[in-house]
Amino acid sequence: RRAIFEQLRQAPSVTADGQAFELHLNIGLLIELTRLAETGAKGIGLFRTEFQFMVSDTLPRLDEQAELYRAVVNASNGHPVVFRTLDLGGDKVTSYAPSTREPNPALGWRAIRMGLDRPGLLRYQLRSLIHAAGEKPLKVLFPMIAAPWEFRAAKAMLVKEVEYFRRRGRTVPETVEAGLMLETPGMAWAIEQILPEVDFVSVGANDLMQYFYAADRQNARVSDRYDVLAPAALQLLKSIRDACVRHNVPVSICGELAGRPLEACVLMALGYDRMSMAAGSIGPVKRALTALDAGRLGTWLASHMTDDLPSLRGGLLKAGSAAGL
Ligand code: PEP
Ligand code: MG
Repeated sequence: RRAIFEQLRQAPSVTADGQAFELHLNIGLLIELTRLAETGAKGIGLFRTEFQFMVSDTLPRLDEQAELYRAVVNASNGHPVVFRTLDLGGDKVTSYAPSTREPNPALGWRAIRMGLDRPGLLRYQLRSLIHAAGEKPLKVLFPMIAAPWEFRAAKAMLVKEVEYFRRRGRTVPETVEAGLMLETPGMAWAIEQILPEVDFVSVGANDLMQYFYAADRQNARVSDRYDVLAPAALQLLKSIRDACVRHNVPVSICGELAGRPLEACVLMALGYDRMSMAAGSIGPVKRALTALDAGRLGTWLASHMTDDLPSLRGGLLKAGSAAGL
């Protein structure tokens, strides 16, 4: 198996019917950057900046944050890197963060909510990122955006910090992109309102499915209870992707879903040609996608998207094997 994946690493990322795709990595630690060369991934689709905060006993200082981000940018060797701003709270806790004792942490004060309510925290992080990027392009992704105003407020902070650097005659990145992490069903319904202001969208499928099905991703009793390939979920994912395409906004998907070969093929057939995943998934997913007739699976899917689940899943498996999976 290892040998197959090694060979695949060099192979072009194109499906059997000639559709190009891109696989990116989800990482959060500096040591994981070696996985870029090992897997042949196109870039870092999700750098989880909260890891540095979670492994530290105290709040990382601005220079400590900047040092990590600079090391990531340098080690990425020209590959694009998407830095997600702090996603603390919910399942991600630190010993020093403002109180995280809440009855429903997943529905509580987390991620961008914390960043906007404690703007000092987010501002410092944005400054660290701008500083670390130097003149290289910078991509910033805001997590858990549940309403358009949250994205606007976060993007305004980013723009303001870039201006702050410029006014002081400091180096600013050649381009700065603001991304929206789509993780709540409410945002999926409001996406059209904000897309004209968004540079890229990343669908956080772990949280999106958790909130869509109201099933705690950390509670084993319910986390796998609902099928992420059920018609309702597929229609949600398709409508998000189609809205982004209509507005010409690049969209990718990250989360466990993209890292599983069958699910990745279905995503590809829905039009998600950029996916970001854990390093161990790149080989298996690339193998599945390069063997896939995405057009054929897409056509099949278009007329079966609303089937009942057992026949949809059974059909997917069959259509998948007919399509080379
Ligand atoms: C997600 O929610 O799908 C995601 C990728 O982010 P995280 O798993 O870090 O919440
Ligand atoms: Mg998430």
